[in-house]
This record gives sequence, structure tokens and C-alpha cells, in this order.
Amino acid sequence: MRSIAIINQKGGVGKTTTAVNVSAALARSGQRVCLVDMDPQAHATLHLGLALSEEDPSVYHVLTGDASLADVRQQVEENLWLVPAHLDLAAAEMELAGEVGRELILRDKLAADAEAFDYLIIDCPPSLGVLTLNALTTVNEVFLPLQPHFLALHGVSKLLKTIQIVAQRLNPKLRLSGVVLCMYESNTRLAAEVSRDVSEFFEGQQSRGWSDVRFYQTRIRRNVRLAEAPSFGTSIFDYAPTSNGAEDYANLAREVLGLAPERAEEQLEPAMREG
Ligand code: ADP
Ligand code: MG
Repeated sequence: MRSIAIINQKGGVGKTTTAVNVSAALARSGQRVCLVDMDPQAHATLHLGLALSEEDPSVYHVLTGDASLADVRQQVEENLWLVPAHLDLAAAEMELAGEVGRELILRDKLAADAEAFDYLIIDCPPSLGVLTLNALTTVNEVFLPLQPHFLALHGVSKLLKTIQIVAQRLNPKLRLSGVVLCMYESNTRLAAEVSRDVSEFFEGQQSRGWSDVRFYQTRIRRNVRLAEAPSFGTSIFDYAPTSNGAEDYANLAREVLGLAPERAEEQLEPAMREG
């Protein structure tokens, strides 16, 4: 099983949109996918059409109580299962404060889980607290979504450092495996420039032990359909299957699977189109 946490401690960069739509794309290509919503905002849960009340079993009960993953997991589409979140997950951080081994709870619950999946994907909150730590000790891979603006790389060094420490102390298999640009404005010079900076930044990191990082060719273009889909409670593939958003996430999922993306003309950078 591949296990991937989608992390960026900045909010609004496209984590949840990527977690939900990559999960849905992988499920549609026949992979059995379990998506875990680790964000108290429960955006991934809402995006997939579930609205829980406090009593409903959720990831909160997995982290703070006796619930197993199977107790709270729900199938939301063919091949796609969700471990949902509710706002009460925000309290977990405090409730677990005195607990020994609190950053290893999800890992242990996953080890006790009998169900087999091809992909485990975790949508993380915009912080590096105990919820994100539980994700980092559970997975083998981190995906980093970046929004191509001027401060895109701000804070990334801190995230890399956190990954390194968790890898050293708690989870030796952990590595940053993918970087993906989200909300890409394909016809702006800034996007092309930031894209180049990001690429250079990670080339520079490779000499420091980040040799496996893959900068995905597929850029997720800004597409209003992606922003509309959550309010219909479905992935982009049900809501707008012919949109750029659906095309981009299908392509990204192809790359995640190790296949070549089917690149569209608009994905090319302006400099490349002009010259
Ligand atoms: P995060 O999980 O990092 O906070 P989200 O995935 O929730 O980020 O995205 C932030 C907002 O931007 C959401 O309203 C989402 O619908 C919207 N959004 C995400 N990706 C795109 C995109 N490619 N084009 C347009 N809107 C997007
Ligand atoms: Mg989110």
C-alpha cells in the first residue's frame, strides 16, 4: 500500500482539493483508496457529501477513544472510502496533550486494520501539531501542494525540517515524494517564474538528501469548477467531468500511478508558447 499525507502548514493552497480529487481519480482508475480527513475543518468530509454530527463516529473517536478505523470508515464511491472528520477533532489536540505516544495513535490503528487498500491518503490541517504528526508517523510519503505566488516557498524549509526529524526519530520510511502546483494561472509570467523557483529550490534540496522529490509536471490550473464542486458534495469527476479541473487531477493521478500525463496545450508555460 502507498500511504501519502498531503501537507502544507499554510491554509488555502489546495491540500483538500488535491486530497479529494486525487483520491477520486485513483479510485476511478481501479485503485482501492482510503482517504482520512485529519482536519477539524472537515472540508474533505463535506466535499465528499458527508456532514456528521458530534455523535457520529469520526476520526476523533479513533484518536481519542476505542474506535477502530473500520468503525468509522464509510464507503462514499466505488473503490473510495472515507474516514470522516467533525469539528470536534479540534479538541483532540488538547485532550491528547498528556498522553504518552500521542503521535503514534493513527499508525497503531492502521496496523490493526484488516482491510486492504492500494492507497491511503491523509488530508492534513494547516499546522504542524499532533494531528499532522499522527499523519507523518503513519505514511511513507508526503505530497506538498504549493500555490504559485511570491511567498510559495515561505515555511517550506520548516516543513522539510519536521519531516526530517520525524523520519529520524519515529518513521524511517518517511520522505517527501511529490510537489504539485495548485491554482496555477497558466498565462501569467509570475506563475512561470514561481514554477521555476520551486523547481530550483528542490533541485538544491536534492543534494541535501531529498533526492526522491518529484516535481509533478501536471499543474492544477485555477478552475472555478474545482471551487464549486465541494458545495455539491462530490468530486470534480461527478460535478464537472469535462472541466480543466477534472482533466488536471486525472493527469496528476496518472503521474502518481507512474504513468505519463496526457498534457494539454494550456499546461505549457507562456514562454514556451511565445517562443
Ligand atoms: P487547503 O486545504 O490547503 O486549505 P483548499 O483545497 O481547501 O486548500 O483550497 C482553498 C480554496 O481554493 C477552496 O475554496 C477551494 O475550493 C479553492 N481551490 C482549490 N484549488 C483550486 C483551483 N485549482 N482552482 C480554483 N479554486 C481552487
Ligand atoms: Mg484543507
